[in-house]
Amino acid sequence: LLVHQPARKETGQDTSGEEHVEAVIEARGINKRFGEMQVLKDVSLSVKRGETVSIIGPSGSGKTTFIRTLNGLEVPDSGRITLNGEVFFSREPNEPKKEQRLPRLAQVEKVGMVFQQFNLFPHRTALQNVLLGPRYHRRGSAKQLELEALEMLDKVGLLVHAHKYPHQLSGGQQQRVAIARALAMRPAVMLFDEPTSALDPELVGEVLKTIEDLAHEGMTLIIVTHEMQFARRISDKIVFMEAGSVLHAASPHETFENCNEPRVRQFLQEFK
Ligand code: ADP
Repeated sequence: LLVHQPARKETGQDTSGEEHVEAVIEARGINKRFGEMQVLKDVSLSVKRGETVSIIGPSGSGKTTFIRTLNGLEVPDSGRITLNGEVFFSREPNEPKKEQRLPRLAQVEKVGMVFQQFNLFPHRTALQNVLLGPRYHRRGSAKQLELEALEMLDKVGLLVHAHKYPHQLSGGQQQRVAIARALAMRPAVMLFDEPTSALDPELVGEVLKTIEDLAHEGMTLIIVTHEMQFARRISDKIVFMEAGSVLHAASPHETFENCNEPRVRQFLQEFK
């Protein structure tokens, strides 16, 4: 199988003996308003290679808007976003907006995203859905791209369904096609926006399992989720957002066992 990320999670050491791990994606001081409402207030997040970060918090706290800024689907009012050290977006708080900035193609290409709704093209097979992005953006012979797309479908356990149309697949299978489609672009990081919330309960497990497999392979993941046990199990870090701000960011253990922040405790209580 093609694995485009290092299949290890251990941290590198530099010669000074200090931990030195490159941030794959870093957001600093992200602000965003919709009309009068400040939806993101100075949100920062740094995710290292191979890390899995889950973003939790009440509905309307800005989780989705935040991850959408990471792949350019939303343009922040101010802040800075870097991917593998390259600045993709940077604007000072008082800098006038001269022009509507469009995300750079590379930002869209390198940051894969899986949505709540699977958004597959209904008149294309699973394989064709996976192939669309690579055919448009990537180099390689048609044969090569198809082989890689099939490998991605294999990775999510759907090789046998490669030639089926979305309506012939269950919701869980469709979401796994959507995951394969994002992976086919060979992203540096994968974003998941409540990937199981549109699924019937009995189909949630297979999608979570697919995401968990990616985490174990060392893919860098940022997941907005209400699946608390899942987040606890697979995450290196849990970020709690409320009212547009990051209120808490810590290991699952600290978050679920030791958190002193009353709002986080109260929120988690609701999932017990
Ligand atoms: P969460 O993912 O935590 O539920 P969202 O990021 O979806 O939160 O939404 C944060 C707030 O921004 C909500 O109050 C939502 O209604 C508002 N919002 C989200 N998208 C838009 C938009 N395109 N236009 C106006 N308001 C929006």
